[in-house]
Amino acid sequence: MSRLVVVSNRVAPIDEGKQTAGGLAVAVLAALKKTGGIWFGWSGNVVEGESQDQPTLTEAGRLTYATLDLGRRDHDEYYNGFANQTLWPLFHFRLGLIAVSRRTRQGYERVNAWFADRLHPLLRPDDMIWVHDYHLIPFGEELRRKGCTQRMGFFLHTPFPPPELITALPNHADLIRELCAYDLVGFHTVTDLRGFLDYIRQETDGQVEQRGDEETATVRAFGRTLLAKVFPISIDTAQLESIARTSARSRQTERLRESLVGRRLIIGVDRLDYSKGLPQRFEAFEQLLLSYPEHCNRVTFLQVAPPSREDVPEYIAIRRELSELAGRINGRFAEFDWMPIRYLNRSFGQRTLAGFYRAANVGFVTPLRDGMNLVAKEYVACQDPDNPGVLVLSQFAGAARELEEALIVNPFDVEGVADALQRALTMPLPERKERHGALMRRLRNHDIGWWRESYVDALTRAPYD
Ligand code: UDP
Repeated sequence: MSRLVVVSNRVAPIDEGKQTAGGLAVAVLAALKKTGGIWFGWSGNVVEGESQDQPTLTEAGRLTYATLDLGRRDHDEYYNGFANQTLWPLFHFRLGLIAVSRRTRQGYERVNAWFADRLHPLLRPDDMIWVHDYHLIPFGEELRRKGCTQRMGFFLHTPFPPPELITALPNHADLIRELCAYDLVGFHTVTDLRGFLDYIRQETDGQVEQRGDEETATVRAFGRTLLAKVFPISIDTAQLESIARTSARSRQTERLRESLVGRRLIIGVDRLDYSKGLPQRFEAFEQLLLSYPEHCNRVTFLQVAPPSREDVPEYIAIRRELSELAGRINGRFAEFDWMPIRYLNRSFGQRTLAGFYRAANVGFVTPLRDGMNLVAKEYVACQDPDNPGVLVLSQFAGAARELEEALIVNPFDVEGVADALQRALTMPLPERKERHGALMRRLRNHDIGWWRESYVDALTRAPYD
């Protein structure tokens, strides 16, 4: 069996017992344990001066972690700069927020080349290389330049926008050529795949071949042949179901329940990011209290929003905006014994969140644009099947493609979202059970193991020419 080499911007904490390990980390670890291999990427540390010259290798059974510290300049240009201030807003349809600079673009290409240089000596001829996310698009081409002929796959964890947006990026063709250096490129949804295929059709002289299946295409472009395919990422459904059963009775969940004194609970859990639609969400909750005043002092909205990417100006701005908005809405509606919005700028571990999800009558997930949104899936998996809550979900989350039995909303339509909240809060038990049952069937069939196996399976069958 070939070794798997996983490359991602961040290598997950080596302490596997840590509760905060995200879905990606869990999936990747499971895949690596099966085949043995390497997990290569940034350590998460920023050092003054130059980036670390040679990777730190840590053995854990058949698995080797290979991590590198980034120097300040590399971190600013590659990570904060091009990845998070250009590609992130571009891929989330936010042209108004993109920063364009030759310096950060060059830094992005330079750090990718440097990463590839550091991995190259560790590779074996029959390795399979799986590269993750928008930080590392040029990585594969850099390896090919060094003569690597191994099977290489890439998975994009963000949306992929239509060509009309991609072409706002100077030298966009270089980025797409870099994507085409892989043998397999994975996306979350057919919409993302279509964005990529439309770019190939409209902006290159390449060809796209789709045989009846809108989730798979063979692409011939930039002198290469690759498979582009949809693989919606998911969660460890069975494990979360079991965690939620235990967490339902945890001390923290009990404290949360007691603090509500019989009030209903709406929950939102998001990194504090402008793609998550938090201002519109707060306004929709305010609209609920205006349109349906019977909920005043009867419903509490708990929004968990740990700050992220705090070096980037847009993240500082959205944090300030949300603090003001929460303060204004609370000032307007609060009673001496009720705070409508509990807004928390901190993170919680998965076990604690599982109990909170289960205690909540409504899961409130309304990104303006999101690759998948795992919180939506986690909320569903954590419900009590005998008395499940209702998911209110943005049509612009990748998850909306699969979670059709949620109440699907347009997050820009604040009044429409308020109406959906009202519907969720008043939905009769039989309808809640029916919707939840249908959602769970899908989440059990398509869990994180299914995602990983289908991707690795497709990569095993490369090359595709
Ligand atoms: N998460 C967490 N603690 C928090 C907030 C979020 O563990 O306080 C987890 C959450 O359970 C989910 C992940 O972070 O697994 C967020 O993934 P999602 O796809 O929803 O959004 P992303 O942050 O990747 O944009």
